[in-house]
Amino acid sequence: MRITVLAGGIGGSRFLRGLLALLDREHPGSEVTVIGNTGDDIWVHGLRVCPDLDTVMYTLGGGISEERGWGREGETFVVKDELAGYGVEPSWFGLGDKDIATHLVRTQSLSAGYSLTEVTAALCAHWKPGVRLLPMSNERAETHVIIDDQSGATGDDGTPLRTAIHFQEWWIKLRAAVPAHGFVLVGIDTAKPGPDVIEAIMSADLVILPPSNPVVSIGTILQVPGIADAVRTTPAPVVGVSPIVGGAPVRGMADACLVAIGVDTTADAVAAHYGARSTGGLIDAWLVDETDARIVGTVTALGIDCVAVPAMMTDVDATAGMAARCLEAADRIRASR
Ligand code: GDP
Ligand code: CA
Repeated sequence: MRITVLAGGIGGSRFLRGLLALLDREHPGSEVTVIGNTGDDIWVHGLRVCPDLDTVMYTLGGGISEERGWGREGETFVVKDELAGYGVEPSWFGLGDKDIATHLVRTQSLSAGYSLTEVTAALCAHWKPGVRLLPMSNERAETHVIIDDQSGATGDDGTPLRTAIHFQEWWIKLRAAVPAHGFVLVGIDTAKPGPDVIEAIMSADLVILPPSNPVVSIGTILQVPGIADAVRTTPAPVVGVSPIVGGAPVRGMADACLVAIGVDTTADAVAAHYGARSTGGLIDAWLVDETDARIVGTVTALGIDCVAVPAMMTDVDATAGMAARCLEAADRIRASR
């Protein structure tokens, strides 16, 4: 089986860990391709940092800090403290000492002319994540967040001036507590999908949208020209898992992202946002948590195969069970064609 997954950071990689455990047990020889979000990427102190690619790589390669969910296990922050001593910004970005080695290798290789796809493959040759990890694009396209100017400045008509800041500044420094008016993916107009990205969607036996942030992870990947069309038209069933459980994100601040694009923080509103493939949308099937069983009818009425399953990724076994429900949903979609 060839499975292609569009993934952000923590939610995407935890799902992948369960999927790989399931495939190892029940479908050995399967191939998983991950299309990773690079909209969160940022230059920090001259280093190219790709938080979502690294979270996938470290989680599947056994180097992630389980407690934090990002960065390395047994990490120290000596360099970060030294930089703070110099008073240089950004001081709010969690740059760990072990992690810096990854960013040094990446930055050096990019400067030597290798593409992010090539550099990621080289880093993965070390981490052996058990998946083919493809950046969504080799072009720089970074998510910026439109907020009210924090100085309180207003225009002539008294309305607050607006400004755009890097996604990481909004997410980490401001904890997404300042309302977002919208998201702008700077550079997306001229970005192309990375090598093999479209092919991985079009030739897959199954495409999965795991429980990643629908706006700034999966939503970002889908904005790369050509990727959403590939998801709409691939012969493979497309199955999604809700990151929203009981009207709230399981972790993180996806609600602050959804409100900015006018989507309610509910599992059914996110399903409607993606839309049924039968009506030109992106998903054939949608898995929600058991606690959201009452919305199954609403989603089914949209033309989306919907089931309520245990959708909390408490451990690898529970997550493997969730991945098994994705494979079953794909079988139902194929059988109904
Ligand atoms: P990020 O890039 O690190 O923010 O991670 P992702 O975008 O891949 O995933 C973030 C999403 O994962 C959040 O919206 C969470 O609600 C969701 N999530 C985290 N843990 C779970 C879980 O156990 N179950 C489900 N259904 N969603 C989860
Ligand atoms: Ca992310």
